[in-house]
Amino acid sequence: MKLVTYLHDGAERVGLLSGDGSVVRPLPCPDLNSLIESGDWERIAGQAGEETPLERVTLLAPIPRPRQDMICLGMNYKDHLEEAAGYDAGAFAKEKPVAVYFSKRVTEAVPPEGYIQSHTELTERLDYEAELAVILGRTAKNVKAAEAGDYIFGYTIVNDVSARDVQTGHKQWYFGKSLDGFTPMGPCIVTADEIAFPPALEISAKVNGETRQRANTAWLINSIGQVLEELTAGMTLMPGTVIATGTPAGVGMGFDPPEFLKPGDVVECTVEGIGTLRNTVK
Ligand code: MG
Repeated sequence: MKLVTYLHDGAERVGLLSGDGSVVRPLPCPDLNSLIESGDWERIAGQAGEETPLERVTLLAPIPRPRQDMICLGMNYKDHLEEAAGYDAGAFAKEKPVAVYFSKRVTEAVPPEGYIQSHTELTERLDYEAELAVILGRTAKNVKAAEAGDYIFGYTIVNDVSARDVQTGHKQWYFGKSLDGFTPMGPCIVTADEIAFPPALEISAKVNGETRQRANTAWLINSIGQVLEELTAGMTLMPGTVIATGTPAGVGMGFDPPEFLKPGDVVECTVEGIGTLRNTVK
């Protein structure tokens, strides 16, 4: 099923999106975090209310306010690792084939059609990163890679917007990844039962209609199963945790000269079976 968060008559609701994306039906739960934590989403989905045409509601990010910082994978596609090391070897070159983990503060995720904030007072190197994001559905501890699919609630798209000069200017990437308006998410969550595990989905990004990124989520260096096994060997991950799995080649810093974003640019991130997340830089 496709799940969305939306505004209707001034109220924030969770709903089921029809297969063709034309109508939404509200669910009796306060927000998507609560739906996930209930462990009972299929029964609750069976209580969906009356249909409303999608054009009469305003989509929000499916999880507008994650309960914890998003967990992110860096340099998790081989071609992106190479382009990033070409841009700044000191900041991005990897000496060992280990996963790069970092986190990203998401005070409020940017909705579909919402604005990426350019923060021109802080950065001259604003960049995009189309990513498949995994949302956990259960408390995860000591998960084996082969069982990782059982812990996934669903999948969405995030754009891991990054201020490259802030990211590389500090030893840690946290600040340059966490500015307000830096995490577009959506347009929906597709529940895990609809996507074969591990997901092998076409992923792409366009800027002003020009294709910049094109890859397949099957090409991850560290698979979702490996990541869950590694992290949960030492950390307990809670339901609702969002894990951004990394971005392929074709980000702005990978071009020579680099192609950074500016106000007015339109970024579209697409993942097969989930949809397109379209945002404008403001
Ligand atoms: Mg990223």
